Amino acid sequence: ETPAEKASTMVSADQAERERRGLMLVLSSPSGAGKSTIARMLLEREDNLDLSISVTTRPRRSNELDGVHYHFRTPEAFEEMKERGELLEWAEVHGNFYATPRGPVEKTIETGKDILFDIDIQGTFQLYEKMREDVVSVFILPPSIDEMKARLRGRGEDPEEVIMRRLETAVGEMRHWSKYDYVVVNEDLERAYENVRSILRAERLKQKRSGAVAKLMNGMVDDLQDALTR
Ligand code: 5GP
Repeated sequence: ETPAEKASTMVSADQAERERRGLMLVLSSPSGAGKSTIARMLLEREDNLDLSISVTTRPRRSNELDGVHYHFRTPEAFEEMKERGELLEWAEVHGNFYATPRGPVEKTIETGKDILFDIDIQGTFQLYEKMREDVVSVFILPPSIDEMKARLRGRGEDPEEVIMRRLETAVGEMRHWSKYDYVVVNEDLERAYENVRSILRAERLKQKRSGAVAKLMNGMVDDLQDALTR
């Protein structure tokens, strides 16, 4: 079989998309920018994407399930996980602790699946330090401060002082928007979702992630060139 004949079975689109290291898609935003909704849409509509389920010491809200939205843990249990080195990153947000368990992340990306993170800027920067090559970060912005306040109040579960504290944190976080790889304004939900989806699709095809293509291309192109010019 000549290299030119081999070329007909170069690489399938499926292989190119799947035989690769998974990526870590980080969505951050001030609360009230609609990040959770976009995250849910991605998980429902995209194949090959898992959610990183964080550990937290925050009390469970009435609509949340342990092991689905978060792993709810006592401060003591959280501290033990930290000491055992089981946390990839951790942060204190509004007086509660949040962290990403390490095991599921490593397992997911090694099997070529992507993993979605709903974490704050402190966590994002820690992931940059440890795994910058694997991280794709997206900052979601609300169209206006008024809109953000309205969305925070709309949730209806938190007292006004908590909302004000979130707003202060939000404005502080927004200063760091430029450290993210991408910025998406969530004025219209479908449009914001489409933008995030495009980011994910393009990043999946990045040359550096593509194991199958890399394996094939190394050497192959030269062989082909030889065969064709001979
Ligand atoms: P909430 O209490 O409203 O669910 O989340 C509060 C904030 O904590 C959100 O900005 C969310 O992105 C952030 N957060 C949730 N899980 C993690 C985590 O594992 N690590 C970090 N650094 N932040 C998290």
